[in-house]
Amino acid sequence: MANYYTDNKDIKFHLGHPLMKKIVQLKERGFDDKDSYDYAFLDFEDAMDSYDKILEIVGDICGNVIAPNAESVDAEGPRLENNEVKYARGTQENHEALTRSGLIGMSLPRKYGGLNFPMVPYVMAAEIVSRADAGFANIWGLQDCAETLHEFGSEEIKDEFLPRFNKGATAAMDLTEPDAGSDLQAVQLKAAWDEKRNVWLLNGVKRFITNGDANISLVLARSEEGTADGRGLSLFVYDRKDKGLTIRRIENKLGIKGSPTCELVFRDAPAKLVGSRKFGLIKYVMSLMNSARLGVAAQSVGISEAAYREALKYAEERAQFGRPVIYFPAIYEMLRNMEVKIKAQRTLLYETARFVDIYKNYNSISEERKLEAEERSEQKKYQRLADVFTPLLKLISSEYCNQIAYDALQVHGGAGFMKDFPVERIYRDARITSIYEGTSQLQVVAAIRGVTSGTYLNHIRDTCEKESVGPELEYLKTRLVTMTDEYEKCVERVIGEEDSEFLDFHARRLVEMAGNIIMGYLLLKDTRRDGSYLNIASIFINTSRAHNREKADYIIEFDIKELGSFKYNPDK
Ligand SMILES: Cc1cc2nc3c(=O)[nH]c(=O)nc-3n(C[C@H](O)[C@H](O)[C@H](O)COP(=O)(O)OP(=O)(O)OC[C@H]3O[C@@H](n4cnc5c(N)ncnc54)[C@H](O)[C@@H]3O)c2cc1C
Repeated sequence: MANYYTDNKDIKFHLGHPLMKKIVQLKERGFDDKDSYDYAFLDFEDAMDSYDKILEIVGDICGNVIAPNAESVDAEGPRLENNEVKYARGTQENHEALTRSGLIGMSLPRKYGGLNFPMVPYVMAAEIVSRADAGFANIWGLQDCAETLHEFGSEEIKDEFLPRFNKGATAAMDLTEPDAGSDLQAVQLKAAWDEKRNVWLLNGVKRFITNGDANISLVLARSEEGTADGRGLSLFVYDRKDKGLTIRRIENKLGIKGSPTCELVFRDAPAKLVGSRKFGLIKYVMSLMNSARLGVAAQSVGISEAAYREALKYAEERAQFGRPVIYFPAIYEMLRNMEVKIKAQRTLLYETARFVDIYKNYNSISEERKLEAEERSEQKKYQRLADVFTPLLKLISSEYCNQIAYDALQVHGGAGFMKDFPVERIYRDARITSIYEGTSQLQVVAAIRGVTSGTYLNHIRDTCEKESVGPELEYLKTRLVTMTDEYEKCVERVIGEEDSEFLDFHARRLVEMAGNIIMGYLLLKDTRRDGSYLNIASIFINTSRAHNREKADYIIEFDIKELGSFKYNPDK
């Protein structure tokens, strides 16, 4: 029997990270729930054992239900019938299997029927589901909406909506509109308070909405008449039972075909305000999108893992010139680089998830009691790190995912182009990861703050560099220190120009340079815990050193005059 958790020891390795002790203690608050719920954890060991067992169940369902359904779901897709989206048969089966096992609403507190999972094991489940079927991972992953309702909704909203998730309610996140894509400040869908009915009414169009026919939707809408920017937007929760919604169509798209992407028309659809007016985009959607970006990063790692395994299997079986193609350096180099990129993006994924776990737990504790000074400073530190690591992670993991899927198809030769092998679907599914939840270009817009504020550099110098790696890894650390010096010089050069367009032009290079150094250190730390990561760390650091050098040469020698032809002139 296939199991997508137990067959991947790298995931379990990250589950065993030393910071888990702190995360579990924060999440479980002294393990008080054990007096009220017979399935609550008794102590740290019990919690870790339970995460392990639950992930094993996820791995089992993924290996034996979701992955075997993936091809038929891709071929069949969802359909629209009488204003309702009908999932493909396999999607329905997948959803029922996960709901039966209590795997929807996993991170919610037990009082709402959840498992009180921290981000780390929840993100692990997301990675595993994505490996089995990236399209289905969207439908399952939209349970993130429950977390937003839990964080910002009133008690009344929480009591009404949250217990439904565990019973299998589906969710959607309705942000994008025809004229508001990357720029969500331009959202126009109108929310108006109806005095007579004592309810908010939504009117307008949303586009490209995953699972748009969901039971529960979070809708970003303009509640403040006469406004044109993000401060006029609020967040609403819409219950599909309340009508007023037309599904205009399901998009016909390149990949993730099992995941219905819908165009929606709201006509006097009743909805409830989440949190306070005017904070919809600037606070609640930002938080929701950060969770969703972590979800897309997990999806990217899962797709990468699936692509790599398909490529490895094919390369071992396919013989040309008298030997399996895996023995040609051109092929095994591709496979090795895929493995290295997977380990690098995964270590960044779980580091980011740990940062999110810590600050979010402090946020929620601060609602119960005043934080101690030390706790407050940790909350701030981890929030700052999570804010700059999340876009960095989304950028790097989705781009790696595309590169890995490309190479995995290449390893298959012509067979990869045919529908006879799963890699054809995986390749199509990979393409979306660098587009939704903010394109790679928009991740750079967010991540560049980590460069200009010095957050990446300070983290590298004050934390990564200060940690001992032991004498046997010192030579690799020295390379990372040199890479950091080089990065620092590039940052100084770009900031020194005092030209925002010049900064934007080199932003992606600077962000990727920082990312390479950070992943290098993470892999060194992984090697400290388990020597078998040495080869991976070594290849990653050596290739990244070459990539960073190339970027540094370009930045340092770049003539600002060359920018002239790119400059935006609104009068032209
Ligand atoms: C399959 C699918 C599912 C989706 N699911 C959802 C969903 O569930 N909910 C939802 O609300 N939305 C969803 N979306 C929408 C998605 O988030 C947007 O498509 C995405 O954010 C990009 O917006 P856009 O398509 O309008 O592109 P545009 O914003 O028009 O971008 C066009 C190009 O310009 C670049 N660009 C734009 N602004 C800048 C800038 N400031 N700096 C540099 N480059 C820039 C972009 O990177 C891109 O290359 C989905 C989209 C797809 C395709």
